[in-house]
Amino acid sequence: MKLRYLDEAVSLVYNPDKCTGCTMCVKVCPRAVFKMDGNKAALADKGACIECGACALNCRFNAITVETGPGCAAAILSSGKNNGACCC
Ligand code: SF4
Ligand code: SF4
Repeated sequence: MKLRYLDEAVSLVYNPDKCTGCTMCVKVCPRAVFKMDGNKAALADKGACIECGACALNCRFNAITVETGPGCAAAILSSGKNNGACCC
């Protein structure tokens, strides 16, 4: 089961003008939301974002903002176990 938000409901905002291509967002994202496209990051699957905040926290160039909190990481972690039941 692949849980995902509607793309338009995700608070993630990426500004490619500020991206230096350091690749950190690609490395830290647990959902493969970012990919590299040449020398810049690009959104590969915005709807897969769980709003954990790791990308924004690790982008030293302020190219990413995201409102953390509403993402349900527990649901992701428990998917496939307990019939996908979630404690949150
Ligand atoms: S972490 Fe920031 S600067 Fe680095 S590739 Fe991602 S968006 Fe670009
Ligand atoms: S907030 Fe988390 S899941 Fe969403 S793009 Fe950033 S690192 Fe990936």
